[in-house]
Amino acid sequence: MEKKPFVTLEQVKEITKTYPTPFHIYDEKGIRENARKLKQAFSWNKGFKEYFAVKATPNPYIMNILKEEGIGADCSSLPELYLSNKIGLKGNEIMFSSNVTPREDYEYAAKIGAIINFDDLTHIDYYGEIAPFQETMCCRYNPGGDFVLQNTIMDTPQDAKYGMTKEQMKEAYKKLKAKGVKHFGIHAFLASNTVTNEYYPKLAKILFELAKELHEELDVHIAFVNLSGGVGIPYRPDQEPNDILAIGEGVRKAYEEVLVPADMGDVAIFTELGRFMLGPYGHLVAQAIHEKHIHKEYIGLDACAANLMRPAMYGAYHHITVLGKEKEPCDHVYDITGGLCENNDKFAIDRALPKIDMGDYLVLHDTGAHGFAMGYNYNAKLRSAELLLKENKEVQLIRRAETMEDYFATLDLEKFPLN
Ligand SMILES: *Cc1c(COP(=O)(O)O)cnc(C)c1O
Repeated sequence: MEKKPFVTLEQVKEITKTYPTPFHIYDEKGIRENARKLKQAFSWNKGFKEYFAVKATPNPYIMNILKEEGIGADCSSLPELYLSNKIGLKGNEIMFSSNVTPREDYEYAAKIGAIINFDDLTHIDYYGEIAPFQETMCCRYNPGGDFVLQNTIMDTPQDAKYGMTKEQMKEAYKKLKAKGVKHFGIHAFLASNTVTNEYYPKLAKILFELAKELHEELDVHIAFVNLSGGVGIPYRPDQEPNDILAIGEGVRKAYEEVLVPADMGDVAIFTELGRFMLGPYGHLVAQAIHEKHIHKEYIGLDACAANLMRPAMYGAYHHITVLGKEKEPCDHVYDITGGLCENNDKFAIDRALPKIDMGDYLVLHDTGAHGFAMGYNYNAKLRSAELLLKENKEVQLIRRAETMEDYFATLDLEKFPLN
């Protein structure tokens, strides 16, 4: 599928009069339309709720748009819980799916009434010393082995640090039941960035069967099954996007096959999508500021891996559009780089693109999730601004760019008054 930016060269030229590059920009219209489609896909399930994985895009303006669409928050740390609480999400609108959880995080999660998802059996006693058990609590499952779809290994739960074995799950539910917990959730995240309509249905089947087993063996009420994240997006133009309506239907089939006959037709489906909710609706916009012709052809941008770490971290592909040159032939081959003193600071390697001139604006696609959020300050690079392209086409600053003062805020430079 052709990848078209949601901003034009004219728009970017106008925006840069106020907000210089680099910046991340998000598309409100796309976010809302996609959120509504997800809701429609699971409208057959009465208790369905999406908890947006805050770590993907921890910005309160974005979270608030999602909240208006009926979406809650999935948090992994105290600051994420704080942010979710701050935008007015309450109690069971917040999931807390953490691991290696510090004491103060549990304390705060309990205080605001978030649904707590235990990553390990030992966390139950740990938690018990910190806060009272709630009526509804969740445990995270790790079946081990490989996660296989149609003879392809999608991921390897056996190597993943998350969740509990089946025996431990049973032990955990018994323990929690004895502590007075009334309603239980089951959670698992078994494959990341899947671009196939089969992932959720297969995961659902595994978790529904486990739900049935736990219910029958331990006589516990399973209130929800949380399918977590992992529904991916087509980063590459030749990938077929997921069809969320087909995914919802696939989960419904498994539900009717396993849960309905077991008289468990009241189980709610939860999701914790991050990438699928935001990925395609964000761009990193940067300007070409240098070109270099040595053993290879390089184009240097005013953005670097500190603004978007995925290519450096996992060799991830992000599609690039040279704004205003959408129709020109891709007859040049470039490495597109940032200015970190790290040779993996390359947004693209050997990428065929139209001829790039200094001053051209480049859009790096699909940066709406795990983009700005993974940013860091190596080489004392400052974080960029985040902008929102609103439905009425206005542009709103939703996070200003970092300044040198921000960067030095945790140091006491007054102690160095030499100049
Ligand atoms: C990262 C994460 C998610 C979101 O994952 P995506 O791939 O962005 O959908 C959801 N739940 C948990 C527990 C996570 O760690």
